[in-house]
Amino acid sequence: MEKIEMICINCPLGCALTVERDGDNFKVSGNTCPRGAKYAVDELTHPVRTLTTTVALANREGKYVSVKTAKPISKSKLFEAMAIVNSTKATAPIKIGDVIIENMLGEADLVAAADAE
Ligand code: SF4
Repeated sequence: MEKIEMICINCPLGCALTVERDGDNFKVSGNTCPRGAKYAVDELTHPVRTLTTTVALANREGKYVSVKTAKPISKSKLFEAMAIVNSTKATAPIKIGDVIIENMLGEADLVAAADAE
């Protein structure tokens, strides 16, 4: 049996989790709420993160718009996603929630996290 320690990052409480793993069976302790147990198992089987970054504006020199993925994407695809984001330019005006890149890497839309005039 493998024993793994981790911190839940789902809320500011930051519970210290202990996961006992036996093959595909997981026993999580230290979590104050059920989200911690789900986080621990997800982190060990399919870790995901919400990507938050900026995209350059093609028609506003030196300006950027804040963006984020509409839902968490595979952690293993973050670098590939950033390469796509860094080669992308958006065109202002942009409203919060506008889709900047549709279905990026087959995982999630990249959407504006703020307005850009
Ligand atoms: S287990 Fe629940 S209470 Fe603890 S950090 Fe995670 S989300 Fe917050």
